[in-house]
Amino acid sequence: MVYDVIIIGAGPAGLAAAIYSSRARLTTLLIEKNSCGGQMIITDLLENYPGFNGGINGFDLAVKLESQAKDFGAQIVYDEVTNIEDGKIKKVVTINNSYHAKTIIIASGTHVKKMNIPGESAFIGRGVSFCATCDAPFYKDKDVAVIGGGDSAIQEAIYLSKFAKNVTIIHRRNSLRATKILQERLSFYNNISVVYNSIPKEIIGTSSIEKIKIINIETNETQEIKIDGLFVFIGLLPNTDFLTNIALDDKGYIVTDENMHTSATGIFACGDIRKKYLRQVITAASDGAQAAVSAGHYLETL
Ligand code: NAP
Repeated sequence: MVYDVIIIGAGPAGLAAAIYSSRARLTTLLIEKNSCGGQMIITDLLENYPGFNGGINGFDLAVKLESQAKDFGAQIVYDEVTNIEDGKIKKVVTINNSYHAKTIIIASGTHVKKMNIPGESAFIGRGVSFCATCDAPFYKDKDVAVIGGGDSAIQEAIYLSKFAKNVTIIHRRNSLRATKILQERLSFYNNISVVYNSIPKEIIGTSSIEKIKIINIETNETQEIKIDGLFVFIGLLPNTDFLTNIALDDKGYIVTDENMHTSATGIFACGDIRKKYLRQVITAASDGAQAAVSAGHYLETL
């Protein structure tokens, strides 16, 4: 079968694209490596997505989007895309199969960045975590540290503070990157503290984490902080390993125009994978809608 549209990635961008393309009666296949929702499913509360006063849990929103896409007729397969081959009919190769389509929408999103310091790999799953929503309950009345100063670090530190005894945020600069409302909220939690101008150097422990060694970049002093768990939120990296012959920027994000066209004819990109200024669920969903409409216009020219 040749689909009208194959969408790679079922985060908010891919799911929105699937809703729009299947509602436009385009045969639509969505290919997802893990589970629908992308990074959103590890977010406890989305409080800036319009229409949900008081916020909505990221997993719950993902379930709603998935069921909306399926109700309009989108098919979903769970597999990992390893390659795409361009042509009038395009081929999407996965680990277990290959699929054909007239257009492709890439919505493969991002993955979490690692610190690459001694102890990090060894303690993943034994104290080092990249998901507070998944692992916070393991740290009830314990001491944890959070690395990073962006929205994820601050939002997840606040979530962790409901479980842990103490949460220490370690940030490499003297001011946080996170949006102001999150920064203001930090002052309401007396079990959260921030250590500025410091970068992590080593995670120390035996069977589990015992301490993190950090260095103050202004004074060069090292300090060891006793912790039971470490949560790392130092940003995201684009999932573009399977791509060739599509223009990327210097950080590896796909370059598109405002209508989501990539450098390859009939191939579109949307969401966090795209070079853009604001990476949010709402901008991902907006991109997805635009990509599907652009794909529809392209199909009319064939
Ligand atoms: P981010 O905004 O890129 O922030 C990464 C943080 O980690 C920065 O504070 C950065 O420091 C620090 N960092 C980077 N590399 C580091 C290293 N090697 N060692 C130590 N610290 C390091 O990433 P994010 O917080 O994961 O957010 C990703 C995107 O999702 C953003 O666009 C964000 O706005 C969005 N997001 C939005 C919400 C929301 O709206 N509620 C929630 C979560 C995420 P510097 O500040 O010095 O660069």
